[in-house]
Amino acid sequence: MLYPLLALMAAAEPREVRVGVFDNAPQLLLDQNGQVSGIFGDILFNVAARENWRLQAVQCVWAECLGLLRSGQIDLLPDVPFNETRAQFLDFQQQPSLYSWSQFYSDPQLQLDSVLDLKNTRIAVLAGSLQYDYLAGLVAGFSLQAQLLAVPTLDQAFQLVSEGAAEVAVANQHFGDYHAPDYGLRENPIVIQPTRLYFSTGKGRNGELLQTLDHYLLSWRASSNSPYQQILQRWAGEQPRPFIPSSLWWSLALLALLLLASAGGALLLRRQVSEKTHRLQASETRLNTILDSVEAYIYIKDPQLRYQYANRKLCERFGRPLEQVIGCTDEAFFDARTANQLRADDHRVLHHGERVESEDTNLSLDGGAEHTYLSVKLPLRRPDGDIYALCGIATDISEHKRNLEQIHRLAFYDQLTGLANRRLLLDRLQHALDRAERNQAEGALLFIDLDNFKDLNDSLGHDRGDQLLQQVAQRLSQQARKEDTLARLGGDEFVLVLEELPAQTPLAIEQIEAVAGKLLEALAEPYSLQGETYTSSVSIGVSLFFESASSTDEVLKRADMAMYEAKAAGRNGLRFFNPAMQAQVNARAALDRDLRLGMQLHQFILYYQPQVNHLGKLIGAEALVRWQHPERGLVQPGQFIALAESTGLILPLGRCILLYACRQLVRWAQSAESSGLHLAVNVSARQFHHPDFVAEVLAVLDETGANPQRLELELTESLLIEDVEAMIEKMSELRSHGVHFSLDDFGTGYSSLSQLKRLPLDQLKIDRCFVRDLLSDRHDAAIVRTIVALGDSLELSVIAEGVETPEQRDALLSLGCRAFQGYHFGAPGPAEQLHRTALPATGR
Ligand code: C2E
Ligand code: CA
Ligand code: CA
Repeated sequence: MLYPLLALMAAAEPREVRVGVFDNAPQLLLDQNGQVSGIFGDILFNVAARENWRLQAVQCVWAECLGLLRSGQIDLLPDVPFNETRAQFLDFQQQPSLYSWSQFYSDPQLQLDSVLDLKNTRIAVLAGSLQYDYLAGLVAGFSLQAQLLAVPTLDQAFQLVSEGAAEVAVANQHFGDYHAPDYGLRENPIVIQPTRLYFSTGKGRNGELLQTLDHYLLSWRASSNSPYQQILQRWAGEQPRPFIPSSLWWSLALLALLLLASAGGALLLRRQVSEKTHRLQASETRLNTILDSVEAYIYIKDPQLRYQYANRKLCERFGRPLEQVIGCTDEAFFDARTANQLRADDHRVLHHGERVESEDTNLSLDGGAEHTYLSVKLPLRRPDGDIYALCGIATDISEHKRNLEQIHRLAFYDQLTGLANRRLLLDRLQHALDRAERNQAEGALLFIDLDNFKDLNDSLGHDRGDQLLQQVAQRLSQQARKEDTLARLGGDEFVLVLEELPAQTPLAIEQIEAVAGKLLEALAEPYSLQGETYTSSVSIGVSLFFESASSTDEVLKRADMAMYEAKAAGRNGLRFFNPAMQAQVNARAALDRDLRLGMQLHQFILYYQPQVNHLGKLIGAEALVRWQHPERGLVQPGQFIALAESTGLILPLGRCILLYACRQLVRWAQSAESSGLHLAVNVSARQFHHPDFVAEVLAVLDETGANPQRLELELTESLLIEDVEAMIEKMSELRSHGVHFSLDDFGTGYSSLSQLKRLPLDQLKIDRCFVRDLLSDRHDAAIVRTIVALGDSLELSVIAEGVETPEQRDALLSLGCRAFQGYHFGAPGPAEQLHRTALPATGR
């Protein structure tokens, strides 16, 4: 037995023991009397008293202490963390004297579960401490964006947190657990820097000191009232925690990963240099125990991407024992796509030294369910910096993701219809308002409310009520553009947010009216509810962004109020919040009613404006519509054509105009004097695009017996924006019957030469804006010359409109233009007036 022998020796000569003391309270420190103190100091003191050692404290700083120990100038150094480099020139106890780690202390309200939760925090930490360097590495390594506040004492660190100047303080657990309650702080379950602390001696020297210490510690640890426990209690102020609590394993695992990385992958080395010392095995077993009990996949791969280590969880995932995992690459476990992706990431780590964080969705070879992993991969480096392996940790977050998605759906979408709910609407609306302000584009909110929904719900039951709401949502979705926000506010209230409307209010209103018109129409179609047909309607209130001072509340409130107005006005309708806008809308509605009545009462007539050739001889006319209004007199087309286009009334009106024009041609055909005249008729885009257009023109020609050769249809360049192929097809068909085509207002649109070449045209009509300033603006002269040249090369005739003076006519003539129309030759008027038009001299 060793003990009696030691005791015997102790009775004789006191043993001189030179002890290195560096300042590391509470583990180790020098007290006021220059004696070794602290946890290690007291342990040593107790042993020394029993063993008759005379302790001689040698004060040194840490690095210096190590040097002194190595060179034999001191016999014993307490409080030394084990590491392999040190083990080459120092001896350690068999058992650590103390386990130590650092912990994070914060206000009890703040819950930190992992180092990742330190993001954006201010961390008070002892200046110049190991913890400081370690944390700096941690913050950079995990991109934590945390701020480290260096303080001179741990007390000050706690003080900062209690004052709110920092969120977290980092302290050695022995100190922290003792002092944190004084500051109203408590520890969080994150552990960093767990270390096993030993007494150590120079290699091969003073082994008996270590043995003796081991002996005492072994028996003291086992007893609850031993000097060891008393010492811990004295310094730490609570039941000692010599072992790391199991609740801290997770953070330890992360830490283990970092240790693996930073200490140069001790684990891998240990595998490779198998069967090393007993101590190494023990620590590997311990580390393995930790890594195997963690709910994460941890592995190490060599530069050929072969697994060198896999923890238990990963082996289970692969369904193979560790021996069959080691040496394999990912191709053995994953489908080709996943393996490729993994390999690409691995290469970044191994070849570029990157730390790769990724969220991967993997499919295993057995075709099991897809899993999503959050994975971090780090390079492992030799002391010289070379990368010799990579180490990775992955956590299965599939369940977590599914939960997140589900929560997101529940939180932001309406369960019945799948549309956005009020919360999402408010968020999107705010963004829409911001965008509108930035881009100076108008936006609008349409508040859509079902008429009499309550009645249906009460009489037919909630099932059918729900069905109706679902069908309404469906129809709304079909009408809305992808970029518009559609939401259900609750009950029978829906909202549609329109963005990117023209900044000019009248134009914006027109677009809104068009959209709202379509909605009203679509929602008024009959619904089928469990086999029964049911009709419903909605009332729509509209508010515009700009008038609502860009506040979400205001926009919603105004639209809501407008919606009630719409209901009061008899439902199934649309109301704008703004009275002026509403007046504009009313006026348009009144005009539309008037126009329809005018059609029935045949109030539309045609005026004819002469077209002449270069000799001033009448060659034809353009038909221009006029509205003979009983109260307003003769109304010009500028007042009603646009509205007729937007409401679709242009279709019957256009047909009627064509009919009158053809009848006029038939009349002209009856006398030799006028039988050669052609008649130009304006065709609007909406008219031309109508599928029945060609058939209708042919029908009118047929019905009236007019000569198609004398009919000239004026199209505008705006038509070219839409389907050119369809346009060419229609024109060609009519042209095969002899009908001619003129491109109206030429030069103001965007037709490209290549398009122009393909159109079966006969004439270009120079827009009157070029004629107006022809004499003063040389650019206009150049444009006219170009159009004439273009006409020549495409074999199209060219006519100028808006010719008001002989000077303009002369200038056009000199630029090569051969046909004219304008007040100079005659204003639009009734047919009889046309023949009275004097033929002015050409001036040349
Ligand atoms: P537009 O096709 O460019 O018609 C020419 C317009 O210029 C006519 O106005 C005509 O009165 C006017 N004008 C004729 N000579 C002169 C002149 O020397 N100086 C000036 N400053 N103006 C002149 P109007 O009749 O008011 O027609 C306006 C527009 O309404 C037409 O422009 C055309 O786009 C449309 N429009 C007229 N009639 C019809 C029609 O029957 N169907 C369709 N779809 N649109 C029509
Ligand atoms: Ca025209
Ligand atoms: Ca024109």
